[in-house]
Amino acid sequence: MPHDPYRALYIHVPFCTSRCAYCDFTTQAIPAGAPVIDGYIEQLIERIRQLSREGELAALETVYVGGGTPTHVGSKNLTALLYALGLSMHLTPEVECTIEANPESLTERMVADIWALGANRLSLGVQSFDDDICAVLGRAHNGEAARRALAAAQTRFENVSIDLMCGVPGQDRARFASDVREAVSRGVAHVSIYPLTIEERTPFARMVRAGMIDQPDEDAQADMMEDAARILRAAGYERYEVASYARLGFESRHNSAYWAGVPYLGIGTSATTMTQNAHRRMRVQDGQVVDDLDAVQMAAEDMMLGMRRSCGVSLEEVERVAQLLPALRQVLSDLEARGLVVRDAGRYKPTERGWLCGNELYGALLDSASL
Ligand code: SF4
Repeated sequence: MPHDPYRALYIHVPFCTSRCAYCDFTTQAIPAGAPVIDGYIEQLIERIRQLSREGELAALETVYVGGGTPTHVGSKNLTALLYALGLSMHLTPEVECTIEANPESLTERMVADIWALGANRLSLGVQSFDDDICAVLGRAHNGEAARRALAAAQTRFENVSIDLMCGVPGQDRARFASDVREAVSRGVAHVSIYPLTIEERTPFARMVRAGMIDQPDEDAQADMMEDAARILRAAGYERYEVASYARLGFESRHNSAYWAGVPYLGIGTSATTMTQNAHRRMRVQDGQVVDDLDAVQMAAEDMMLGMRRSCGVSLEEVERVAQLLPALRQVLSDLEARGLVVRDAGRYKPTERGWLCGNELYGALLDSASL
């Protein structure tokens, strides 16, 4: 279908050193240097060159190489991938180019190489600086390796993000708060905080069924999320999305594009492409259409995505969307009465309670398409 230009590119690298106990992402544990890795990278490069010839990479504003563990493919493959990108699109300093990294495979040499080739943001999967918590999660690194990798990343990159997880078995509030404080003291630009969820077909799901660990306690996780919000805010980080905190100017533009309903292109196994024009939005994964929305459903989805961000949606946007969704104004008034959104400075914004009861908030906005 004729579509608006893609503005964000996601490249999926489905390889890891080992499989973490909580992970249901599309990835496989495979030895570093396995020939299948080189073959996969070659395919990615061919696809990038083809999309460039077709003109699909001309308007990209952000690139995100994620996984899996992109750094597990090694410096040679990662630099080949970035080199191909540099030849295929305008990989200028204005384009946000993020590489996801894990502590066990990020080296100082790799940091220098990928920075020289145009990467300008590193997202490091730390999860915890605490050896016991890393072991429970089945991470391939301990706290010291995470510290070493972070220091290596910061030899070149100012824009370094880390992920931290809360609600892990054996992790109390004090232990989690100490992880958050360490992130602050090490000067990272961006922190993402995720509560542990037990996904089907993971070692953790089997352990829950066998009674070896409990389901995460949602109240305890909410307390930890609040602790993180307090510590990070006091240190000058702004919570610009439900799970994301950044020092001023270091908000992730790639993630923000997802929440703003911007069309994006996905390359690689299981990567989703979102193609859209004014009337239709389609998501395609591995050649299969997984979502096909009309203009009304798109509008409801944009309202829902807007509430993931602290800035919410403007009253002008609400007025525009209400032409398509007559029930929207009433739905927002109800959400306001329930304390899930608030009207502030010409916008509807999510409240802390709205984020904690995210399913209720997002569900009500999505349902407004069928009222
Ligand atoms: S490193 Fe990330 S993608 Fe790989 S198994 Fe662990 S959580 Fe999953």
